Amino acid sequence: MKTYMNADLHCHSVVSDGTLTPEVLAERAKANGVELWALTDHDEVGGQDRALAAARACGMPYLTGTEISVTFANQTVHIVGLGFDAHHTGLVEGLRRTRGGRSERAQEMSDGLAKVGILNAYEGALQYVGNPELISRTHFARHLVETGVCSDTPEVFRKFLTEGKPGYVPHRWARLQDAVQWITDAGGMAVIAHPARYGFTPNEEYALFSEFKTHGGRGVEVITGSHSSQEAVRYAETALEFGLAASRGSDFHSPTESRIDLGTLPLLPGQLTPVWELLADRIQ
Ligand code: AMP
Ligand code: MN
Ligand code: MN
Ligand code: MN
Repeated sequence: MKTYMNADLHCHSVVSDGTLTPEVLAERAKANGVELWALTDHDEVGGQDRALAAARACGMPYLTGTEISVTFANQTVHIVGLGFDAHHTGLVEGLRRTRGGRSERAQEMSDGLAKVGILNAYEGALQYVGNPELISRTHFARHLVETGVCSDTPEVFRKFLTEGKPGYVPHRWARLQDAVQWITDAGGMAVIAHPARYGFTPNEEYALFSEFKTHGGRGVEVITGSHSSQEAVRYAETALEFGLAASRGSDFHSPTESRIDLGTLPLLPGQLTPVWELLADRIQ
């Protein structure tokens, strides 16, 4: 289990806010040379059996995965879980509870958009959702692009869906310690996703990493589609400082929306302990 392995341990399917099925993703990962894969749908493990079967069918080793939204220091932070039992009751129930608030939030987002003349956005976004419980800002973004309000999804986020914009509704997600515990109790490893994305002050970031460790978190994404090469260097140092294993994942959502394809990121820097080394007995 070497750091140079082409592992891609972060991506999304139609089960959450991706546009491809688990089966098509597995084939795409395999075709791109992925040697170890995990599907990490937001707040849901409903695609895990399909992803595992598809990975097996093309001879690609697989780790179970999910990406849980948590609220920490009044910000949304994403925690990736890897290598857990996807049928563990505590995990499945915790995820069910945490995604419960998404429908109401989506209706409030729609009300906000209506005030600036964009009508029926909730109904529009629903057309892009597999499971209405998992409606996210991504689905609103797709609807606003399809209806010509914006030309691409980053523009929708910039103009309508980020803090201070008409379609933004703050939300209280799960607690950090709960998400880490659901994953750990189910036999898996909790990993801080794309740490450079949160815009924390150094003090807040230190608090996130130390509390995460205290609660039993063990990994951090160093190489991700969300990091520049400088950010990768910075979080490689953070991984060493906090004694965390390092993960690598594209965060692929869609062939037309994602800049980074499955399996095409730079390799992990060699001095780090890859998460897959610690999860060797969880690989299926
Ligand atoms: P939600 O969980 O509903 O807040 O939606 C978050 C999702 O929106 C993330 O998982 C990304 O897929 C997507 N997202 C967040 N920020 C952006 C952005 N600036 N541009 C495009 N997609 C984004
Ligand atoms: Mn997403
Ligand atoms: Mn994320
Ligand atoms: Mn993601």
